[in-house]
Amino acid sequence: KQFTVYVSPIAGQKQESALAVITDVTLMHKLEQMRSEFVANVTHELKTPLTSISGSIELLKSADRDEGTRRYFYDVLDIETERLRRLIDDMLALSQIENAREDPSVCSCNLAEELKQCVDRLLPMAQKSNVALVLDVDRSLFVSASPTRLQQLFGNLIENAIKYNKPGGSVTVTLRRQKQTAVISVKDTGIGIAPEHFDRLFERFYRVDTSRSREIGGTGLGLSIVKHLAALYGGEVGVESEIGKGSNFMVRLPLLSAKANPEGSAQ
Ligand code: ADP
Repeated sequence: KQFTVYVSPIAGQKQESALAVITDVTLMHKLEQMRSEFVANVTHELKTPLTSISGSIELLKSADRDEGTRRYFYDVLDIETERLRRLIDDMLALSQIENAREDPSVCSCNLAEELKQCVDRLLPMAQKSNVALVLDVDRSLFVSASPTRLQQLFGNLIENAIKYNKPGGSVTVTLRRQKQTAVISVKDTGIGIAPEHFDRLFERFYRVDTSRSREIGGTGLGLSIVKHLAALYGGEVGVESEIGKGSNFMVRLPLLSAKANPEGSAQ
């Protein structure tokens, strides 16, 4: 631990007496380091698409580009502006979640309903990637949360399970009750994650394979948003994975009162 000690004479007292203030600055240093790392990361993440955008504009300015080349650079502009938009949306979401105290949109949410909506929304993406998306929910369970944020939480996990899958693979989303908690599992048959990454996986901008993540348009913030949202609702998130076999991301959320979730109630 590091301490800063300030010693100063007390006004009006004889010189033998002094006031010592001891401040633990370890945490302050750590926070400052985290802040500057975050700024460096954001700057890098913003600069990468901006470099592609300005490069494409320069090349498009030249009059002698054929139609095929122009089309190619327009596509680059499309992809990179979309990347910037997603990055800004994710950063905004993270800062809102971190500062969320009283959330007026919190209500009694039916997890089965929210999961179904999420799966329906992401079915086209799964079909495009040739990945089967299966929902296995056998009951309604109610938690206190904002429906939009639950969509974001489950959406991020299901999108990842599709993005980091293999063609012909599958994603299975399940909802089960364990005592007074709901356990949502998003299990895929994708590329898997080596255990040495588990500790840092939920950090902002941490990626296992940076080039693959960028190629498929990842912002590196998805899992960080998932972790913060689970914590916001008093829950937690965990992961099990095996390289080449797939991953299983599990979210545990506290259930609303026993009255809202009577034991043994089927859907
Ligand atoms: P990204 O936008 O890069 O997907 P995330 O925060 O959502 O960022 O995920 C962080 C990293 O964790 C990803 O870059 C990827 O390497 C890894 N990852 C996340 N989900 C999965 C998954 N289901 N299978 C394999 N790797 C995953």
